[in-house]
Amino acid sequence: MKRIINAYGTNTRLSGGMMAPEVIAAMAEAARSCFEMPDVQAAASRAIVDATGAEAGIVTAGAAAALMLGAAACIARLDPAAMNRLPDTDGLPDEFIVSRSQRNMYDRALRVAGGRIIEVGIPDRLSGPGVRDASAGEIADAITPRTAAVFHLAGEHAEPPLPDLVRVAHARGIPVLVDAAAQLPPASNLRRFIADGADLVCFSGGKAIGGPQASGILCGRADLVSSALAQMLDLDLPEAQFVAPPEFAPLNQLRFLPHHGIGRVAKVGKEEVAGLVAALRRFVAEVPTARWMARLGALDVPGAVLVPDGAKPGLPLLELRFADRAAAERADAALRARDPAVHVDASRIRRGVLAVNPIALDDADLAELAAALTACCGAAARR
Ligand SMILES: *Cc1c(COP(=O)(O)O)cnc(C)c1O
Repeated sequence: MKRIINAYGTNTRLSGGMMAPEVIAAMAEAARSCFEMPDVQAAASRAIVDATGAEAGIVTAGAAAALMLGAAACIARLDPAAMNRLPDTDGLPDEFIVSRSQRNMYDRALRVAGGRIIEVGIPDRLSGPGVRDASAGEIADAITPRTAAVFHLAGEHAEPPLPDLVRVAHARGIPVLVDAAAQLPPASNLRRFIADGADLVCFSGGKAIGGPQASGILCGRADLVSSALAQMLDLDLPEAQFVAPPEFAPLNQLRFLPHHGIGRVAKVGKEEVAGLVAALRRFVAEVPTARWMARLGALDVPGAVLVPDGAKPGLPLLELRFADRAAAERADAALRARDPAVHVDASRIRRGVLAVNPIALDDADLAELAAALTACCGAAARR
């Protein structure tokens, strides 16, 4: 394999970021002992509750898996017969109301659980002809007895704002499920969506938190998180032996123990749970902004400009600005052709901008990265 220097970010396609030594140590230690998985998730719940202010939390196999499990929880609630039937949702509330401007490639996770997406609103402010987007009133109007939840993709410019969504959904007794996978930093967002009233929130463990690449968090209301957990756990044991840890006490209300649920295909191991919890504690204790700044500061590249990431307070980027898109594409291709290949953030390449994102960089690669950027971009970036 050709190694890459990952200056793009924690993209799954590029294998995510790298884990700190104490995260790796936590995973290695977990791999040397056995536990009952409900107890492992109960320990994770305590750490997630500390970090988020939610009633309960579980570690999932990524934010997309958290979304699928969150959707399954909103559909089946604490009904074991419904859990056993998913993704068949005949007769169950299975509609997820979504502002049309928030449709995205990850919302397929809702459909994997059996959900159906009901789009609302016309995103004129994004398509150009106008200023409006879906309103809370339009969302409220779409709620019916078939509604499982209102879905919200968190983001700086998300419309309608989450508190407005929560108000109209809760007025009708409907939960709000939030995809906040990539909304860190700032670390304050760990608490923000729960504080705004969201019933379930998903975070990626492999992005800024710095946990295992295949980990995520689902946190929120104890009854919904417990339902999600019941649908992920391996439940192949005599029914009478199953005892819910106090963190997931709502599972004691189950009429009977369901079989393996829809989340059994996205299981997490004790190693991922231990790694995520270690990374989460580290992220909360010290948001890595200073470390990221130091990394970018060490890159001496003519013409490069240090800027804050517009959408993520606390994340600095090093921008390389080109005369036009074609020049940026030539530099990007030249960087990727090297060995090790250099991948930079190309999300704004249409505007002639490449950026170095520090999250997934290794300090040991900084000298080589600076040389590659200077060779491939230096002259062009000076425009
Ligand atoms: C990255 C991302 C996901 C998926 O996260 P994983 O942890 O890789 O599963 C879901 N939703 C959004 C908006 C994301 O950016």
